[in-house]
Amino acid sequence: MIPISAVDIDRETEDLVMGVLRSGQLAQGPMVERLEGEFRRLSGTAHAVAVNSGTTALVASLQALGIGPGDEVITSPFTFVATVNAIIEAGATVRFADIGADDFLIGPDAIEAQVTPKTAALLPVHLYGLPVDMPAVCKLASSRGLAVVEDAAQAHGARVNQRPVGSYGLGCFSFYATKNITTGEGGLVTTDDAALASRLRLLRNQGMGSRYDYRIVGHNYRLTDLQAAVGVGQLRRLPEKTKRRVDNAARLIEALYDLPGLVVPRVVPGREHVFHQFTVRVTRDARLQRDDLAQVLRHRGIATGVYYPRAVYDYPAYREHALVLAQECPEAEKASREVLSLPIHPSLQSDEIETIAREMRRALHG
Ligand SMILES: *Cc1c(COP(=O)(O)O)cnc(C)c1O
Repeated sequence: MIPISAVDIDRETEDLVMGVLRSGQLAQGPMVERLEGEFRRLSGTAHAVAVNSGTTALVASLQALGIGPGDEVITSPFTFVATVNAIIEAGATVRFADIGADDFLIGPDAIEAQVTPKTAALLPVHLYGLPVDMPAVCKLASSRGLAVVEDAAQAHGARVNQRPVGSYGLGCFSFYATKNITTGEGGLVTTDDAALASRLRLLRNQGMGSRYDYRIVGHNYRLTDLQAAVGVGQLRRLPEKTKRRVDNAARLIEALYDLPGLVVPRVVPGREHVFHQFTVRVTRDARLQRDDLAQVLRHRGIATGVYYPRAVYDYPAYREHALVLAQECPEAEKASREVLSLPIHPSLQSDEIETIAREMRRALHG
């Protein structure tokens, strides 16, 4: 079976982890600091604050901005549920903007239509590794006096006009096992704002400045040095791994773009896609329905994924939630019926890409 994702840990990373194990300093310490330092270089930001998950990164960012009850946060309904859970956790109200028909992302026009006097922040999601049009979103935000939090959980190293994601707003990254960089579980927030960075550090560590100096009400959002060691090893190889993802994507696009009823990922000028997922649309004009195609591919040894099978508001737990304004988003619902993600990860061998292309053509051609 060709898997949809694979974890690849090299010898140097193993050595970093063993070093931490032998040091006796397993919780947050120098290795977390080292990870933050190296991540600052990737994001081009002045500050990076490691936390224990991508979800925590989002919650802490909203808290650091002072966003809570009575505030509205505009985000995408076509995302992993963590984006929405984080807004609810912060006590704010979720308002959805619909995604674009050709990039699965929320853009400035759809967002602007949802801005109300209660809007406090915009929370765009760089889904599948394709960055949102951040210059336009930031322009809208600054004209309305709104904060920007980027859900960059799937977009480590992606850039818009050469500028890395996570440098436009508060950048929230995930290091979950399937992401482009992993620490098993983990996350990180990037920012250029020194005051927000120090608030994030307080929130992360029970609100303590120095020990038992409780300055604000905080939490335990800390990452461990054991996890950070895995991240340092992974981060070192990110450029090479991203290049493999992008090269794999180019090969699949070349092999599949002309299949009837299939829409391959669009390459958007100036917006560098890091291909966390390679997601096609299987439209009504295709020879097979999306779920039937997935089954055919599974029988032929190719795992696929549906990210995501429903808009987030389309579950009772959210539709009926007092903090969720569940307006309908037709493009998100259409996407949830049509999307299929094919393996794209850097551990794929050349002949596996060929197999995926061949089996897709066999299933959908003619
Ligand atoms: C993975 C993910 C998150 C949450 O990250 P965790 O590390 O799993 O908490 C948030 N948003 C998106 C879009 C994600 O893909």
